[in-house]
Amino acid sequence: MKPRDRLRIAMQKSGRLTEPAQELLARCGLKFRQSRDKLFCFGEGEPVDLLLVRDDDIPGLIADGVCDLGIVGRNVLNEFQFANPEPGAGLAELRSLGFGSCRLSIALPQDEAYDGPEQLNGQRIATSYPGLLGEWLRVNNVDAKVVFLAGSVEIAPRLGTADAICDLVSSGATLVANQLRETAIVVESEAVLAGHRDLPSDERGEIAELLLRRLDGVIQVRD
Ligand code: ATP
Ligand code: ZN
Repeated sequence: MKPRDRLRIAMQKSGRLTEPAQELLARCGLKFRQSRDKLFCFGEGEPVDLLLVRDDDIPGLIADGVCDLGIVGRNVLNEFQFANPEPGAGLAELRSLGFGSCRLSIALPQDEAYDGPEQLNGQRIATSYPGLLGEWLRVNNVDAKVVFLAGSVEIAPRLGTADAICDLVSSGATLVANQLRETAIVVESEAVLAGHRDLPSDERGEIAELLLRRLDGVIQVRD
């Protein structure tokens, strides 16, 4: 890959994290000019550019060296690390950013009692997060069947394709609407700044350090 002298940050193109991520970077003093295809934003002051992508692609773009940093949910970062232990191990959560809070939780049909993880033995659990759910099942010594679904996980129990689900929850309204009840938290998540455990050793590393310092200032003021 061609060496780059500008830092490149991946962020969600359109979704829950887009606006707060843009706001955070603006408060760090970064300004961007959007390209016509809306994939790339050129940084006008500091040598920092943005790549606007689907959130699921962000950890892979960092692992492959296409981007240096990314703003992404801890849920997506951790799932990538479980699914790709080799490149995933090089990635780290550099800062937690205080927005996009949610939980990856297990939920059961409302009318079912829950008295602990062992109750999930032999059950089918639908999820888009097989790595994180698999780890939780292992730690809790549960032998359940993980059913992978890319989307609309919450309707699986009603369809009869699963007995329980493991999905992202914030207010819990979606669960209620689907007659489900949150029973166990697998991961507490929020947006994080993801990057390589070791910052690049060239100019990009210096720019990243500068950005991290500004970020710490902004986060401190907010707290
Ligand atoms: P993309 O098109 O980028 O793949 P998406 O549909 O996967 O978008 P969003 O629904 O915008 O993503 O969610 C992005 C992130 O927001 C999640 O990965 C999670 O970290 C966070 N989040 C916060 N609250 C919720 C919630 N209630 N449901 C889903 N995600 C949430
Ligand atoms: Zn996504």
